[in-house]
Amino acid sequence: MPELPEVEMARRLLEEKALHRRIIAIEIRDGRILNSVSAQDLQRALAGRQLSSAIRHGKRLFLQIDSGLWLALHLGLTGWPVFLAESGAEPRHTRLRIDFEDGAALAFDDLRIFGEVGLTESPQAFLSQRGIGPDALQMEREAFLAAMSGRKGKIKPALLDQGLIAGLGNLYADEALFQSGICPQARCLKRERLEGLFCTIQEVLRTSLACNADFEKLPDSYLLPHRHPDGTCPRDGAALKKIKIAGRTSYYCPLHQKE
Ligand SMILES: [Zn+2]
Repeated sequence: MPELPEVEMARRLLEEKALHRRIIAIEIRDGRILNSVSAQDLQRALAGRQLSSAIRHGKRLFLQIDSGLWLALHLGLTGWPVFLAESGAEPRHTRLRIDFEDGAALAFDDLRIFGEVGLTESPQAFLSQRGIGPDALQMEREAFLAAMSGRKGKIKPALLDQGLIAGLGNLYADEALFQSGICPQARCLKRERLEGLFCTIQEVLRTSLACNADFEKLPDSYLLPHRHPDGTCPRDGAALKKIKIAGRTSYYCPLHQKE
């Protein structure tokens, strides 16, 4: 599932390729992709318009339409925007296609259709209606400490709670805990440990972005390239442990992420 770094890569692609081109046609191939908008309203909002900016908040993307409205995108599990140069081959699971006047097109590919396309007048209102908290990369340290301290539950589900911090998913939460030496089952972390975790989250996300969200390019000291059932800790060689926490598979090192 795309997490903050992957969604940011999608944003950069959209910003580079899809802006400032006049839209001449919108084809909705599968209405299940639409979220609180009819095909007709979406077509009306986009026809003859251009996209003018692309922003990201957590795992959400917003494309501004030059009318002032915004297209709200969520990639879900398998969604991905694909830019097609003139007569480019369309991806197999295209659920929505936008054609531009110059012959290029934008396809929204989504095998499993957990992605969403909607319209909003304000990204801010959209986010607050859905209870989505501050973006992990924009969040202030004090806000993070306030959100995480005094909680009785395990730390990992709190990191996955998009209402507390938006953008982390299962993989980057595991990585941040691994780099911080914190067990995903840890509870009631002291302030210094939370401060360390906050800095590590920033560092992990920025490192991934610097690698274009490509796991193969991450430093070898990272968990993600080793995060599989036979994986060993790149720091101390211990066999990684795999457990379920709140229904999600977590990997951690029992040696340096002690409970
Ligand atoms: Zn270790």
